[in-house]
Amino acid sequence: MLKGEENLQLLDQPRRIVITTHHKPDGDALGSSLGLYHWLKKQGHTVSVILSSDFPTFLDWMPGREDVIFYPKHPDAGQTLFDQAEIIFCLDYSALSRTNILEAVIRDAKGQKWMIDHHLDPEDFADFVYWDSNAAATAQLVYTFLTEVLPHEEPIDADIATCLYAGIMTDTGSFRFRSTTSAVHHIIASLIDAGARNWEIHEHIYNSSTEKRLKFLGYCLLNCLEVIPDYNTAVFAVSKEDLTQFDITTGDTEGLVNYALSIKGIRLAALIVDRTELIKLSLRSVGEIPCNEICRKYFNGGGHLNASGGSSSDDLSTVVNKFKSILPEYKELLTT
Ligand code: 5GP
Ligand code: MN
Repeated sequence: MLKGEENLQLLDQPRRIVITTHHKPDGDALGSSLGLYHWLKKQGHTVSVILSSDFPTFLDWMPGREDVIFYPKHPDAGQTLFDQAEIIFCLDYSALSRTNILEAVIRDAKGQKWMIDHHLDPEDFADFVYWDSNAAATAQLVYTFLTEVLPHEEPIDADIATCLYAGIMTDTGSFRFRSTTSAVHHIIASLIDAGARNWEIHEHIYNSSTEKRLKFLGYCLLNCLEVIPDYNTAVFAVSKEDLTQFDITTGDTEGLVNYALSIKGIRLAALIVDRTELIKLSLRSVGEIPCNEICRKYFNGGGHLNASGGSSSDDLSTVVNKFKSILPEYKELLTT
């Protein structure tokens, strides 16, 4: 979907721009934001990336990360930038609520809102929308936005390519998911040609674990994983104490849920974590099992068909039991 194309002419002159993405940014959220940041700066715009929270340490190498403004740490300076912004990019989210404390700030800001995203059910708040739920990553859409949608000639340099490569790599599970089309591989090839050092990015993201994090993985596999063979489902339930014992911080549970899905025959996997203020759920599935419907109906969340998230204010065991009680509703999809 392309909406509000007439607004693109705003970029013909230098503008004050703020880039936002969802709370607790993942690789695609940060990679899209910083990739676009570098491009817009080279075009002469005044650009800030403003986040509602920190990002995982495995992303703490991305070019431009030191320029990111954390709104909770600098609310006044952040607010001024939002007040002055002529364009606010909304990347990798389709509902303003995903920006947590920035929701009202963005909604009330006077500048135009430009959404680039691949999540389902986009909320109608943006003046410009470049949206495709079939895209493998928002970083893929940022790439085509820069190279196909915008008329401006500004080559993709090594920093932009590195950020966008990281976004596509993380959102496709290293080019494994169904969304990894030949078009994605063509874009990846261009990003490597533009200077993305694929092996180095892989090292940064996948070989940067701490000893504690690796031992936490072993602990969870041994102690927190329950397989429910009747429903081809596997669930990790991780308590507050488990997190404290291993010093687990933002991003350290990323990817854990995929281990449950890697068991032969498992079609639905859940990671249910007690984050103190809330219980957070991550669901992954194969085929037609609708993680997003489950999260939307039962856990105040949503996402993609095969990868979704949600939350609950109940306690951990209540949420685990609720999740299990939902399985009969999906028995046919889970077992045939
Ligand atoms: P994860 O399990 O990695 O946290 O999230 C997987 C996907 O689910 C995200 O890319 C996002 O699309 C979606 N998601 C995660 N948490 C939430 C949530 O609380 N609400 C909504 N609507 N979507 C979520
Ligand atoms: Mn994404």
